[in-house]
Amino acid sequence: MTILLFDIDGTLSTSQGAGTVAMTRTFRELWGIERALEGMNFAGRSDSWIVPTALANQGRDCSAEDLALFVDHYVPNLGKAVVERNSRLCPGVRPLLEALAGEDVTLGLGTGNFRRAAEAKLAPLGIWEYFVDGGFGDDHPDRTELLAAGLERLRRHSNDGAEAVVIGDTGHDVEAGHAIGAKVVAVRTGYAQAGELEGADVILDDLSDLRASMSALLG
Ligand SMILES: [Mg+2]
Repeated sequence: MTILLFDIDGTLSTSQGAGTVAMTRTFRELWGIERALEGMNFAGRSDSWIVPTALANQGRDCSAEDLALFVDHYVPNLGKAVVERNSRLCPGVRPLLEALAGEDVTLGLGTGNFRRAAEAKLAPLGIWEYFVDGGFGDDHPDRTELLAAGLERLRRHSNDGAEAVVIGDTGHDVEAGHAIGAKVVAVRTGYAQAGELEGADVILDDLSDLRASMSALLG
């Protein structure tokens, strides 16, 4: 049995900047901050890292209440932005999930998105229901910690000794995946700089070759 932890942005889907638009809107609505994310490199970072970091750049603290308030406003903004921006699945994702659903795997998410943001991104694309659970930005700002939390949850749906595989598009996915003892499959459909994915166990251009993808994930 295999436990799969899929990243979202740049791996399963591309939201064409919907997350950035919705976050920027939320910072403006709540705190009057314009262009809160300008100049930040947040590829592969968790939502619970991005929000406090953007506030710190403005010389503000971020309490647990601030973060909860942010989520409440961000999720509806994200829902709108996903539609406006024509968010879409990365190549091969739907056939791959359909094929995996028939295998001896536990399908999970390992994403820096808040859980409700992950749902807002994946439900309109019709793939939220494939995933039994996962690790999310709510769990921890650090990607290794949130993947570890996700793996622990997914093990409850799985056999003892099941192998874990992390699928992602940035160096943060590669590093965090190995840190939790998982095999890492990297895809070039996202936000990596040249050389960033080199530590991955397998690198795929995308997930459109079903046989190659299945063998990378389950082989
Ligand atoms: Mg990503």
